[in-house]
Amino acid sequence: MQVTIVGTGYVGLVTGAALAKTGNTVTCLDIDPGKVALLRQGTSPFYEPGLSELLTQNIEAGRLHFTDDRAAAYADAEVIFICVGTPTGDDERCDLTAVLAVADDIAANMPGHDPVVVVKSTVPVGTTKRIAERISGGTTQPFHIANNPEFLREGNALDDFMRPDRIVCGTDSREAETRLRAVYEPFTSQGHPLLVFDIPSSEMVKYASNAMLACKISFVNEIATLCERLGADINLVRAGMGTDHRIGTEFLAPGIGYGGSCFPKDTLAVIEMGEDTQSPCLINQAVHAINQRQRQRFLKRIIDHFDGDIRNKQVAVWGLAFKPQTDDVRAAPSIDILRGLLDGGAAVTAYDPEAAANFTAEVPQVRTATDRYSAVEGADVLIICTEWDEFRAPDFAKVRSLMASPVMFDGRNMYRPCEVAKAGFTYHSIGRPTAKACQTSPA
Ligand code: NAD
Repeated sequence: MQVTIVGTGYVGLVTGAALAKTGNTVTCLDIDPGKVALLRQGTSPFYEPGLSELLTQNIEAGRLHFTDDRAAAYADAEVIFICVGTPTGDDERCDLTAVLAVADDIAANMPGHDPVVVVKSTVPVGTTKRIAERISGGTTQPFHIANNPEFLREGNALDDFMRPDRIVCGTDSREAETRLRAVYEPFTSQGHPLLVFDIPSSEMVKYASNAMLACKISFVNEIATLCERLGADINLVRAGMGTDHRIGTEFLAPGIGYGGSCFPKDTLAVIEMGEDTQSPCLINQAVHAINQRQRQRFLKRIIDHFDGDIRNKQVAVWGLAFKPQTDDVRAAPSIDILRGLLDGGAAVTAYDPEAAANFTAEVPQVRTATDRYSAVEGADVLIICTEWDEFRAPDFAKVRSLMASPVMFDGRNMYRPCEVAKAGFTYHSIGRPTAKACQTSPA
């Protein structure tokens, strides 16, 4: 199959590389010529485990091509996947500028045969139809339309794409369904189900799924706050809840809240759909509000530790990415927390294995360190924002000896409080009692 991917972000690039691996001829189109130049050399513009290797293999096999030339990209396409961003706009509504611009591009460069246009970007219900109408407004050539939301997670994206829990498609067109079944046959033949729905239901599945996961995170964070106030330990509470098979423990890890390019904007889009249909989405409003509050509470606890005055305090930070295994900092809790510390007059030095460059592009006042130990030199406090594996078992004695004051605020509950306290730290975490240092001299 001749496949065209529009947009070489996390979703587009992974989709393109995976579909090339399964034997399709794939052309990836992006309007950013710098990205296209990098991709032609087999280099991914972002960190995603295994992706650069897969790109190189498929470029060398002649199945994967990159271009910024719209006419060339659309000329032979049998299936076109729209994978451009749908961020939250300044008005907190889903910004459809990029997907609608792609619709105009497709209309202006419509192939002579009838392609299937597949909306893979996450879009509010009704948008796939709007895209189809937009294309029809610019061309008389026939085409088919489908929606096909993507569920991959950054950091595990290739595996998620190739071994999905489910593939969801929405279409009214038999031809679109036939071609999508053919494209996904290498995955469905391995037992991964493909569910074909009407278009609005397919669009809604994506939002309902992300909203549910975001809801679990805010739920556990709300209970964690109660635990802090009432002297309970959220990790024990979670373990006790999680053994109930109806509940489980997935997405019930307490922390400083969710970030990234999906949960925050998708929760807002659900709220927007509720407002537009005069059916306010009260749970989703609360999920969003709790998530914002969680960052601010953490920031306030740090400032309170210094009696409200963090001027000239040296703050060390481990982890900037919105989650481990990615360099993505979009809507990361670290952004709000570190901005708050800088606004209060603190000096911040941070270490992240992959996300430092993206972070300093957003918040240039933060100094970055090249490793976890140099980040803590002379620090009055260490803050953990992302649970990268390399932070799991640090040499606590070394960390303590490098810091000016052994205080830790762990936003991801990475350690056992008694262990950190024994190493001489005062240890604050989420939803658990603060552990006071129980040794006074360095180990
Ligand atoms: P991204 O922001 O990483 O990448 C989008 C790319 O599209 C950019 O490279 C940009 O240059 C390009 N682009 C913009 N306009 C274009 C045009 N007219 N023609 C060609 N290229 C164009 O996006 P992403 O994170 O991959 O997300 C894409 C969509 O997938 C969003 O709707 C998102 O909600 C959804 N999604 C994302 C994830 C994720 O983990 N990132 C997971 C599932 C679904």
